[in-house]
Amino acid sequence: MEPKLETLIAARQEIDETDRALIRLLARRFDAVRTVASAKAESGEKPVMDNDRERGVLSAWIRDAESLGLSAPFARRILKEILNHSRRLQEPVVEGGNPVRTRKVKVGYQGVAGSYSSQASAHLLATRSVQGAEFIGYPMFLDVVEALQTGAIDYGFLPIENSIGGAIADVNRLLIDNLLHIVDEEVWDVDHVLAARKGTRLEEIKVVRSHPAALVQCEGYLRGMDEVTRQPWFDTAGAAESLLEEADRSVAAICSEEAARARGLDILATSIADQERNETRFLLLARDPEVPDARVPSKTSLVFRLNHHEGTLAHALGIFSSAGANLTRIESRPLPATPWEYLFFVDVEGHQNAPHLAKALQELRGSCNHLRVLGTYPHRTRSQEAHLEPESVVAEPAPAPLVCEVRQPEPEPVSDRPSRTSFKVGSVVVGEGNFTLIAGPCAVESRQQILDGARMVRAAGATILRGGAFKPRTSPYAFQGLGLEGLKFLEEAGRENEMPTVTEILTIEDIFAVAAKVDMFQVGARNMHNFALLKELGKMDKPVLLKRGMSATVKEFLLAAEYILHGGNQRVILCERGIRTFETSTRATLDLACVPVLKRLTHLPVIVDPSHAAGERELVIPLALAAAAVGADGLIVEAHPNPEEALCDKAQALTREDMGVLVAGLRPIVEAQGKKW
Ligand code: PEP
Ligand code: MN
Repeated sequence: MEPKLETLIAARQEIDETDRALIRLLARRFDAVRTVASAKAESGEKPVMDNDRERGVLSAWIRDAESLGLSAPFARRILKEILNHSRRLQEPVVEGGNPVRTRKVKVGYQGVAGSYSSQASAHLLATRSVQGAEFIGYPMFLDVVEALQTGAIDYGFLPIENSIGGAIADVNRLLIDNLLHIVDEEVWDVDHVLAARKGTRLEEIKVVRSHPAALVQCEGYLRGMDEVTRQPWFDTAGAAESLLEEADRSVAAICSEEAARARGLDILATSIADQERNETRFLLLARDPEVPDARVPSKTSLVFRLNHHEGTLAHALGIFSSAGANLTRIESRPLPATPWEYLFFVDVEGHQNAPHLAKALQELRGSCNHLRVLGTYPHRTRSQEAHLEPESVVAEPAPAPLVCEVRQPEPEPVSDRPSRTSFKVGSVVVGEGNFTLIAGPCAVESRQQILDGARMVRAAGATILRGGAFKPRTSPYAFQGLGLEGLKFLEEAGRENEMPTVTEILTIEDIFAVAAKVDMFQVGARNMHNFALLKELGKMDKPVLLKRGMSATVKEFLLAAEYILHGGNQRVILCERGIRTFETSTRATLDLACVPVLKRLTHLPVIVDPSHAAGERELVIPLALAAAAVGADGLIVEAHPNPEEALCDKAQALTREDMGVLVAGLRPIVEAQGKKW
């Protein structure tokens, strides 16, 4: 029976009124939320998310819903959305004092207006309380990253994973290669439609054009169409746009409904993705980190490469689980330069400065060759109730120190000794429980000289070969090293004697040439303050022997190491090599006290160079023995097959006999300490 017209009209009126009331009620609720946020901002302590309160609100809501005959899952979904939005509204208020949030910003995304990226970026920026945002579309992911690097934009907005298609590998790569920081995330419901020029019928479609990811997500639907060709396009909205200039009516595009409507296209089919839920997670990237207020529920993203031996991945994951840290993503990507080794990308719930996470990260560094915190940012993917765990709130959001406690104004002795690090340099394990003797000539002078030198120090018991190819000389007229040719000879000598090699690097331009030939970079005393060089070395996957600057304090020395670790490279050896004091009887004054001081402050291996401190042969051995006795993890000494002919630092070069005496003196000290050699 047909419903009576009046009944229908009345019911529709009722619906319209209810909808208007719903909107008014929502606005009222969000006003109240803002008041709560201001109160929290003033009190300065309450977290944005109050788990107990949210749980209470949720269960009361579901009880009410059920008593009114509504489905509980439906009611839960709606309230979750509301709570989600409420949390976002509170963020800008508690972040009110954050200067980066109060200016006009430029945001770059891949694609054209109306693409999912452009819609999602606009949505995210609207809740970040910036003073307006300008959105710029770029053809490729790489263009967005380049614009960010050159300062043309303030933020880049790129997709990182899709709930159907999985990880977007290019973006992972761009993130790590360009040392970018994640400052926020957005999850966007992707709802694809099939669009075509006005008046086109579904049966006429022969070609479907869209972003490759969208074509994959709609594969089931496309298979159901009669023989269509899939045509990859750079962007979904771009595919829609292209139809306007397309003479061929048989071409359709997969895009969002908004993108189709904005271009006056006809929508031939809606919700055509294979899975009902199709979500894409996007990242907001910046040149510098923007750590959120500790009260904002957050998530931390990391990338690491493990110190490759049995059980390291299990150990690394165990660190998170014993810290009670919940992982929300783990993914591995192959390392093209070293086949069958992997980088791990991990997202973990919580703030990087929350005590439990900061401690876990510190511990993890000890198992990694490379570890970088990609960012701590607001957590916007909490959809499961299981994730509503209370988070510990940090009173002081100080950046988590990497090397030690040096970021605090005064380094406090850490009672709780940092866990020590050991790692491999080539095939040799350096650090905790090991003693490493690095030896070789000051400079590589000829093929024969370095071959002889290598055999000599190897026979004495040295395990790593040194030799400078680029020499930082005080006088421009002194021998400057053989350069690239020297690297070739050093590589050959190391290979012949099965010794990993170390050589000094002077400039950024030489980094790749040096990395291709040797197993470890050395940063000399004169370059310890060359922060640009340290930053670049932080990106490399090769250990660094960092020498203390001639007038650097322990704190400055550690901060120099921090530059390398901050870039991701966790394999740093600290080397005391003598400092400048009023004393002139030795070339420099060997500060042996810094060895136990450094070991108290940092987990990094600490070695000593007695050669450059002493400046003369007779003093090298006693200083070396003393260094081993105070607990150094190793030594680097200069030795020459024929010291009289040395082109560089001849007065301090040890002879074959000296090497024998040195090693004989060292053995009992190292043995007494229970270290492996
Ligand atoms: C060296 O080891 O060759 C060297 C130049 O050392 P330093 O930087 O300590 O002077
Ligand atoms: Mn030297």
